[in-house]
Amino acid sequence: MRRRRLLGAAGLVLLPRIAAAADLDVAIVGAGMAGLAAARTLMARGKRVLVVEARERIGGRLLTDASLGFAFDHGAAGLVPGSALAKALGAHPVSMPPTGAVMVRGTELSREDYERYAKVRDETAKTIDTIRKQRPGVDPAQVMFVQDSLAVLALAELTRTPPFEGEQPVPQGVGTLVARWGAGVPIKTATRVIHVNSTEPLVRLVTIAGDIQARAAIVTASTGVLADGRMGFAPPRAPGARPRSLPRPWPRSTRSRSAFRAG
Ligand SMILES: Cc1cc2nc3c(=O)[nH]c(=O)nc-3n(C[C@H](O)[C@H](O)[C@H](O)COP(=O)(O)OP(=O)(O)OC[C@H]3O[C@@H](n4cnc5c(N)ncnc54)[C@H](O)[C@@H]3O)c2cc1C
Repeated sequence: MRRRRLLGAAGLVLLPRIAAAADLDVAIVGAGMAGLAAARTLMARGKRVLVVEARERIGGRLLTDASLGFAFDHGAAGLVPGSALAKALGAHPVSMPPTGAVMVRGTELSREDYERYAKVRDETAKTIDTIRKQRPGVDPAQVMFVQDSLAVLALAELTRTPPFEGEQPVPQGVGTLVARWGAGVPIKTATRVIHVNSTEPLVRLVTIAGDIQARAAIVTASTGVLADGRMGFAPPRAPGARPRSLPRPWPRSTRSRSAFRAG
């Protein structure tokens, strides 16, 4: 017999409770990078967690598509070599050779000039590095005097590159690594959360597959999802309240995190 009962004319649906009260310390909404990271951190501290994900897969905006026979990342595709994230994911980002042709005054370089350009570029990079170390704040392009056309080109190319290490692609795909990294986390997929109620002794997540209760909840849905109002909150989020976003070097906010504690 189905446990789902319709309650009167109001059409309320009493959904089965799918996680018992004592089961969970923290329920996490969203199995993207933020939700998986929160779950792994809490699990490492001995907390019982459940990640509740609307889609049928994990990873959120990090998704690798291998259907064409190579890894294509729909979301972030690069990681900074040696970064904490690259290490945590077990990634080995690789340098890619620059693509495209190098042209000087409308003519592509000869093979010999490509070889010379590589050497000139290396020497120019060393000089730029020295200037940045010895005279911080000084623009190398303003103090370096170069006449050779290849050196002019190398200087222009190198000084428009930021003076910090950039991201490099990951052959297997960032989405693949994140999915593997999150594989040990308890996750309930295809379970969209409709409502988060933190007015009761336990936080209650109302989902399309039943209620989940936990001592605390973390919502990692994107700011766009929170703004469109399809996930309700009790007590309601204050009008105009903005989700807390984590600081990062990304110009527009796409990461958000809201935490709810019972009681
Ligand atoms: C093309 C592209 C390139 C990018 N490049 C970079 C980059 O180079 N560097 C960088 O730092 N970042 C980059 N980003 C951004 C980065 O991918 C995201 O900031 C990051 O993946 C966000 O992770 P998240 O867990 O916060 O959110 P998401 O990945 O959005 O995860 C949220 C999860 O919540 C789930 N969810 C939403 N609503 C509900 C609900 N009601 N119930 C249950 N689950 C729900 C969603 O399905 C999703 O799985 C890029 C993004 C894109 C799209």
